[in-house]
Amino acid sequence: MAIIIDGNKIAQDIRNEVRLSALALKEQKGVVPGLAVVLVGEDPASKVYVGRKAKACEEVGFLSREYKLAADTSEEKLLCIIRELNNDKLIHGILVQLPLPQHISTEKIIATIDPHKDVDGFHPYNVGGLVTGSPFLVPCTPQGIMELIFRSGINLSGKEAVVVGRSNIVGKPVAFLLLAQNATVTMCHSKTKDLAEVTGRADVLIAAIGKPQMIKANMVKEGAVVIDVGVNRLESGKLTGDVAFDEVAVKASYITPVPGGVGPMTIAMLMKNTLTAATAGFGK
Ligand code: NDP
Repeated sequence: MAIIIDGNKIAQDIRNEVRLSALALKEQKGVVPGLAVVLVGEDPASKVYVGRKAKACEEVGFLSREYKLAADTSEEKLLCIIRELNNDKLIHGILVQLPLPQHISTEKIIATIDPHKDVDGFHPYNVGGLVTGSPFLVPCTPQGIMELIFRSGINLSGKEAVVVGRSNIVGKPVAFLLLAQNATVTMCHSKTKDLAEVTGRADVLIAAIGKPQMIKANMVKEGAVVIDVGVNRLESGKLTGDVAFDEVAVKASYITPVPGGVGPMTIAMLMKNTLTAATAGFGK
């Protein structure tokens, strides 16, 4: 039976570490990390995330600012707010909550954020740093996945790592992070042939698909480390991951639950990225 990786505990440990580092930064340099979160529209899930981010800022002693804009806010108005935040000395991290309404170009918005304040790590500058092996701000969920692996004492060097899902926010960045730790990385997606054969080779399997319980025990190698990124809401209202937890846990050596695995790490790493940005001292 697998060891269940406790994402709630690890995320709490990270928030505690960030709080102490922020305290030291304030004492030594007089800098209080500041995070601005911009929400356009009324998406209920996005509203919940934004609220959680503000609460986490309060817990770790950061300044937090929320911009709640109407769904019909123009792209130019949003760009204007971002440019102001780029020049705001009190703000070290800028996060524009995605998805944005259709009339706004997500690409343009991300490219306008000062890369040194891009705490989501989505700006091409930060993506480039990740790919070339000199990362500055790394996307939060993939970074959180790596922390779960490190803090569970799992060594990745020479291991077969398989990532199912190739999104820009999870699959691709986590593949580069695994590669940087000397894993041999295979990426799978909806066109992959014989997925079970590929996932069955994995010492470390990352599922970031968005399909409830798609990864079954017959797709997993005995003793594999299984990280479930999926968050799927069933008709019953219950949350479930991309991995059939009960049957896979019998075979795996380590597994993350949903909820309580990768989920809590994302905001913890957002706090860490904001601290990194504030410590780097790029604030204008
Ligand atoms: P996307 O929808 O952007 O990407 C899903 C990926 O899965 C795609 O690359 C797609 O392939 C692949 N895929 C879909 N169906 C199959 C299949 N049958 N076989 C193999 N691959 C398949 O999702 P995200 O990366 O944004 O998110 C993935 C999951 O992680 C979601 O459940 C999301 O809610 C969750 N998530 C959780 C976070 C957290 O904090 N815990 C943060 C972000 C996401 P293709 O490219 O070919 O279409």
